Parts: sequence; structure tokens; C-alpha cells
Amino acid sequence: MPARRFAQVALPLPVDHPFTYSVPDALLDRVAIGMRALVPMQRRLETGFIVGLSDESDVEKVRDLADLPDDSPALSAEIIQLCTWIADYYCCSLGEVLPCAVPPGINQRTKKQYRLAPSLPDGRYTERQREVIAALHARGPLGEAELRGMLGEDDLAPALAALERRGALLRDNVAQRAAVSERTEAWAILIEDAVLPAEEQIALQRRAPKQAAVYFDLLRNEPEQPAAQLCARHDANSAALKALEEKGLIRREAREVYRTPLLHADAASREKLPMNEEQQAAHDAIAASLDAGKFQTFLLHGITGSGKTEVYLQVIERALALGKSAIVLVPEISLTPQTVGRFLARFQTDIAVLHSGLAAGERYDEWRRAQRGEVRIVVGARSAVFAPLKDLGIIIVDEEHDSSYKQGEVPRYHARDAAIMRAQMAGAACVLGSATPSIESYLNSEMGKSVRLELKRRATRSPLPTVRLVDMRGEVREQSGEVVLARELEEAIGARLAEREQVILLLNRRGHSPYLLCPACGSCTACTDCHVTMTYHARGQFLSCHYCNLRRRVPLACDDCGFTPLTYLGQGTQKLEDYLLRGFPNARIERMDRDTTSAKHGHAKILQRFAKREIDVLVGTQMIAKGHDYPGVTLVGVLNADAGLALPDFRASENVFQLLTQVAGRAGRGDRPGEVLIQTCRPTHYAIQAAKGHDYAAFFAREITDRRRSGYPPFRRMVQFTVESEDAHAAERAATHLVAWAREALETQELCAIELLGPAPATIYRVKKRYRWNLGAFCRSAKTLNTLARSLRNSFQEHAPKAVALKADLDPYGLF
Ligand code: ADP
Ligand code: ZN
Repeated sequence: MPARRFAQVALPLPVDHPFTYSVPDALLDRVAIGMRALVPMQRRLETGFIVGLSDESDVEKVRDLADLPDDSPALSAEIIQLCTWIADYYCCSLGEVLPCAVPPGINQRTKKQYRLAPSLPDGRYTERQREVIAALHARGPLGEAELRGMLGEDDLAPALAALERRGALLRDNVAQRAAVSERTEAWAILIEDAVLPAEEQIALQRRAPKQAAVYFDLLRNEPEQPAAQLCARHDANSAALKALEEKGLIRREAREVYRTPLLHADAASREKLPMNEEQQAAHDAIAASLDAGKFQTFLLHGITGSGKTEVYLQVIERALALGKSAIVLVPEISLTPQTVGRFLARFQTDIAVLHSGLAAGERYDEWRRAQRGEVRIVVGARSAVFAPLKDLGIIIVDEEHDSSYKQGEVPRYHARDAAIMRAQMAGAACVLGSATPSIESYLNSEMGKSVRLELKRRATRSPLPTVRLVDMRGEVREQSGEVVLARELEEAIGARLAEREQVILLLNRRGHSPYLLCPACGSCTACTDCHVTMTYHARGQFLSCHYCNLRRRVPLACDDCGFTPLTYLGQGTQKLEDYLLRGFPNARIERMDRDTTSAKHGHAKILQRFAKREIDVLVGTQMIAKGHDYPGVTLVGVLNADAGLALPDFRASENVFQLLTQVAGRAGRGDRPGEVLIQTCRPTHYAIQAAKGHDYAAFFAREITDRRRSGYPPFRRMVQFTVESEDAHAAERAATHLVAWAREALETQELCAIELLGPAPATIYRVKKRYRWNLGAFCRSAKTLNTLARSLRNSFQEHAPKAVALKADLDPYGLF
């Protein structure tokens, strides 16, 4: 009798340990670590990942694994190790992290299925319920769609729910192969040593000319061909192939075909550029570490336009030459088609692209190509840090300061930090690149945790643009009415348009006028589900909540007091666009924000037209500030530079400095010098002054002093706890309990170096109908914070009412 083996399965549940199952004999020869597994969980089936195998188990009453839906493991030991680190550090379960490491479609391959309980509870059943029971009795387990097809829609859902409550029905989540999987194509392959003697060849030609034509084609030309083309050429069909197969002359095989995503190689980047001295020095330092094959983190601090991409391209080439692979992380890839285009041009077929803009099937195929070792480079957004590449030599994190690297939901990991961990585990180099490094990364380079490499000049030798500040306080006094553009900026736009040059205008707010204000009672129209005012969108005449996307028609009168008319206040991108259209009727003006780019490839299309100079003025939110390299742009205007400074976020100044520096960096990349105009009411603020002077060092010096004094990250680590409930009182009570539990944990577990901040209502007190309270905790040791977070999670699970949820966010980003 074979040794009974046990599998430890990580399930996507907030439970710290994996679950043990026994492996049925039928699956024994296939079972492997890293495979997806279908397992019974209470009265359902769940999909998890096998993270351990053993011959013994001390768990009593183990249940059997139900199935292994794939042929081979989806995850390697290296990826499981990385996920384990993420689960530990960000305080969630391994089962919650593992699904991030596979393409999304593969996880959705489950459907709900109903089956009858082994014995039906006694009692009366309604007519509808009896129909359901009869159908399941006759046909075995069925999905809801199938039941609907058989029995009709009416009252089916309540009948199913009632039966389930009574214990007459059991519901399973069953893995389905269909949702995303390989796309295959039939091939015809000549069997080598099965050659037909000459006389039989002649006979075949006479009796079955089409079969003969196909056979000779394979014999004389390519011995392996896609069946469809082969048949089409000889007007044959699959019956002919089948006949040839039965004669033992060919075999047929289903081969995987890849769906290729629509992305354009940037032809100009195909050829290697001779690097300048600074680029060469940075390259050599990274290459030396690659050659040595040991882990090292680099911070590539290069000003905008300094040619960081060329350095990335050439160190990757080095990694490939050493037989190693490379991962390139870029922020929300659809925003930076140009960067991806450069990698595609240089490495052509050796590269797979993973990002959320791809259809599920495309993404699955790209992932498979990487898993099979058919490509050695993966470029992608956040989750590409899990790319299934072997022999990893280097990970590049472009625009490492970008906050989109931090995931907003469980697992709340930061892809830059995960990248450093993965590089460490693989003995690889990790290169963090930015013109405006995060305070965290720059401090690490100061402390010697990473090697800083600097590119201080633009690669094209064009100078950095001059930056002028326009003090809006004076402007508002002198111009009557609402000021959209300062006169200086308006004149500058006119002058650039006259020269046929391009302009970028940044206004970090979507919509038309942010507020609809009642002049009688002073109330603003707010979202009914969130504690925020709704934004007016003139196109379509609606108000929208930028938190939950709720929409409503523009009210004619005030909701509170009935006064009419309401006043429109403030500015958004739509209003700016309208203003420009009136002021510059001959200019080609385009807007880029979440409203205009939601369609597939929306960003790429607008940016491609801008690159071809079919657009003169591009108006947009912060998404226009990122990584683009368009030589025609000579003027950048920033409208509400200081809005971000007022946000209750310890990174407010850092974010404003980064945004201003990045958007300013879009100007003057070509032959003509660039110019930047920043409208502001706080011209003396250090973030704005530093951006004006292109002075990262000055900004860092001031910011790090402030952070040190107040004990904010990176000096201490932070964990942000949030309790949420639809019931305002329940949320508040839970927040009070949370603090009490936290105090208790600090005392009993001697986590004394932790400082608590709060509880306080969240900045946005209500989101999607849920009231939110925050509790911050600060400590120098991430480990101590982690202990606290786990302990609070346990207390919460034991004692808190079900209607309240707790989130724990380690190294949090964004509004609190
Ligand atoms: P960054 O990412 O640092 O902002 P890019 O990589 O976009 O800068 O480079 C800016 C421009 O400089 C690009 O058009 C690029 O082709 C060009 N460039 C880069 N390296 C060189 C070089 N060694 N010689 C000439 N041009 C270069
Ligand atoms: Zn809302």
C-alpha cells in the first residue's frame, strides 16, 4: 500500500495556517507543491494552492482533496517563498497572497453548483422547491444557469436559497476550465519512419487525391503544419487528416497558440544608443553586480530626460547574455505605452507584457510564455513582480516613487519592496529608478542600504526647463471674477501655439466645477453614500461621486432648503477645456483624464495622437505627468499646484513635489528650450520652491527633517487600522474597543515602543455607505507592529460584531 500523503493547502481566507487534506490514490502521482487544488471546506468546495506535502499528519479527521484542476504547478517554490514573505510582512494569510501570483482569469474558473443533500430534511416543500429537487435528482449536480434553463427564472433564486437554508441543497464552488485557458490549434505532423512505399503512394493518389496531396505536402515541405492552412491549401477537410492518421502516416496534435496584445514597438528605440559618461558609469556598476551574481539594490536617481531607460535596456541585455532573466515594473502600464514600446523594440520576441489593460486571455498567454521559459523578460505593472521567470538576474522598478505600486486591497503589498525581497531571494540585482525618489528609497541610499547612481544631465543635452511661479493671490485681486488662467500663462500658451509648439496643462481634478453650492443655506450637494461633495460634469449634465462613482442628475434646487438656482464653484479639467476652446478657437485641444480614457487603449490612443502632433494642447489630471517623452512640448502649465499641499497626509508635500517635478520634466525635451509656469497661492512653500529650482537635494533635506521631528515614516514604521461599518455607532464603538485591545496588547506583550494615534473618524468619514474610524500605530520596528497587527486581528475576529470590519495596512499610502 502506498504511503498516504497529505497536502497542506492555502485557502484565500483570513486564517494564518494552511489546511491539511489527504491525497486520494487517483491523484497521488500528479500531486505537487504549487498546484491549484479543489478542496471541501465546510459544505462547499474551494480553490486553494498546495504549499506543502507530507507523509504524516497530526490533524485528525482529514478530508480528501477533491481535484487538481491543472496538469502542472502554477507556482514555483521561489514564488511561494516571496508570497510567504508578503503574507508575514503585510499581515495577511498566504492563501490571500497566492492568487495575486497567477493571472486573474485562472482564479475565476469556478462556478456555483447545487447538489442534493444525502438525506432530505422532512417537512413540506413548495411546488417550486419540489421542481428543483426533482431536477437535481434526475440530472445530478447542476449550475444555477442550467437550472434556470430547465425550470425558468421565476422565483428560482428564493427557492434555491430556502432549500439551502433547510439543508436540502448543498452548494459547491466548482473549478471550471473554461473561463481562461490555453487557446489551441490543431496541427498535422508527419510520422517520420512511416513512409509509404511507392506503389501505395500511387494507389493513394488515385483513390484519395486529397489525402495524397496533404501527405505529399508534409513529406516534401514542412513536416509539421497547422491543420487549417494545410487543409485549405488542398481543399481537404479533417476527415482526410483522420484517414491519414488511421493509416499511421501522420498524427494530429493540439498546440497552444498565443493571443498577442496590441502594443506598439517604438521603432526609434531599436538601435542601441552610445551611452554618455554618466549612463556608462551607472551601467557598469549594475553590470558588475550582475556578473558577480549577488544581491544588490541600486537607486538610479536620474533627472527627467537623463536617459534612464537606455541604462535599463543595456543592463537587461547584459543579464540575458549571462543567461539570466529580467523583470521590469512600470506604474500602471497603460499610462506609459511609450516605455513599453521601447522595450518591445529592443527585445522583440523575448518579452512578455502583463498588465490590467489586457484581456484575460491575452494576459494568461503572456504569463504562460514566461512560465515556459519562452521569454526571458517580463514588463508589467505591480503584479509582474510575481512573474514566473526562472534564473532571475535583475528587477527594474521604473518610477519607483509611484504610489500605484502599493496595492489598496488585501494583500496590501508594495511592489517595490516585494521586488527588493524577490531580488534578495534570487541573488539578483534590483534597480529602483526615478527623477524624484521616494523619501524611503533615498534615505536607504543615504544609509548605505542601496547604492545610489546619479544621472545629473539630460541625455539629449537640452537644458532643464525654466520654471516660473505665478502668484495667484495677486492675480485674483487684479482680475475680476473667477480666474482660470493667469494672464501670463494665457499669453504663453498663445505664443507657443503661434510657433506650432505643443502645450501640456495639468489640473488635478476631473469634471467641470467641483461644487454645486446653495447660496442660501451654504450646503454642497453631497453623495448619499460617501461623505464627499459630488463633482459636476457638464457633458451629460450629471453629478458624480469620485469615490463610489454614484451618479445623479443635476438637481434644480437645493436638497436641504429648496433654494434655486444653485451656484457652480471651482474648476475641473472639463471647465478648463471649455475655457481654452473659447480662448483659442483654432487650437486642437484634447483632454486626458479618467473620463476620456476609460475605453480600451484610451490612454495610448490619445498619447499616440499627441506624439504625432495632431493635438496642440493636452489638458489633463496627474496621468499626463508620467514618463512621456514628446520633443514637441515646450510649455507646461500647472493650474492648481497647491491643492495637494492641504491634504491630511504626511506625504502631501512629497506628492506635490514629485508631481510638479515630473510634469515640468515633460517640457523642452527636444531642440527648443522648455518653460514651466506654475500657478500657486503658496509660492514660498518649500515643495514648490524646490520644484522651481529642480532641487531634489533641498527638498529631501527639508522633508527628512520634518519627518524625523514628527516621527513619521521612514523614521518609524506605521500601521493604519481602519474599522468600517454601515452602522455609525457600531463603527465608533468598535474603534473604542480596538484602542482598548491595542493598549492591552502593548502591556501584556511588552510592545512598549509603539505609539498610538487616534481613534479618529477617517478623513473621508463615510465611503460607499460605510462609516470609518482610524487608529494609527507607529514604531521603529516593523516586526513589533506586525505582532500588534496580528494580535488585534485575532481580538477582533473573536470579539467584534460581524457587522464591523477591520483593515490593517502596513506602510500605508494615501488619504487616511
Ligand atoms: P528618463 O526616463 O530618464 O526621463 P528617457 O529614457 O526618456 O529619460 O530619455 C530621454 C531621451 O534621451 C530619449 O529620447 C532618449 O532616446 C534619449 N537618450 C537617452 N540616452 C541617450 C544617449 N546616450 N544619447 C542620446 N540620446 C539619448
Ligand atoms: Zn459616493
